Amino acid sequence: MQERLHLQNHPGINPQPFSSKVLSIIEDSIILEQSYCYPKGGGQPGDTGTLSGQGISERFTEVHARELIHHPVNDVSTFKIGQVLDCTIDVPRRNSLAITHTAQHIVSAMADELWDATTVGNQLGTEESRIDLLFDDKTKFSQQVIQDKVNEIIGSNRSVTVANWTADEILTDDRVRNRSFVSRILERLPSHVEHMRVVNIEGIDICPCAGSHVDNVSQLTQIEITRIKQKGAGKIRLYYTM
Ligand SMILES: [Zn+2]
Repeated sequence: MQERLHLQNHPGINPQPFSSKVLSIIEDSIILEQSYCYPKGGGQPGDTGTLSGQGISERFTEVHARELIHHPVNDVSTFKIGQVLDCTIDVPRRNSLAITHTAQHIVSAMADELWDATTVGNQLGTEESRIDLLFDDKTKFSQQVIQDKVNEIIGSNRSVTVANWTADEILTDDRVRNRSFVSRILERLPSHVEHMRVVNIEGIDICPCAGSHVDNVSQLTQIEITRIKQKGAGKIRLYYTM
């Protein structure tokens, strides 16, 4: 699998342009020898941006990955294998997603803290994001209570740091919430993955995550929970903007 170089950069805001050789062209996508783009996954949309140089200036749409990181473009015919290009990631979009993503950790942590609710899904967006929460008793849920609690934390000064932990370290640390749920996710990882990146919001939450985050919660703006949807037995879908 191609190395996910975006993981090396924390905070995940203000990604720098980088150069790379075109390794191959697969269907509508350019594969670079190395890429710092975030590929869609874990509820966070992939980066978009521009590939330029050698007479080329082409936008790429949402980056995605399996083994290789794909940068989809409108017209692959102008690209050649071996050429070196500059890749510029759309900074405002990435920054907005890193902010929204960091807030998601806090909302999920507070839902656990207040009501033992587990986050079972999320989809981040630059306009609106959503989180699916699973409750034993969802009548306890209060939109105002969680919004106030999250905004109080956003108004504080807490660092957001990353570290690499083994699965064992993750599953035996009491500060990691919903460890039975996390354990099911870790089981699906390929066996060669020995360490996972763990994101630590000082005093609030520790969880394994490969997404983009800020490095201090004071960089976040206040959240507004705009609406909720009942999603069947025990589940609430919560929408928020920032
Ligand atoms: Zn995250």
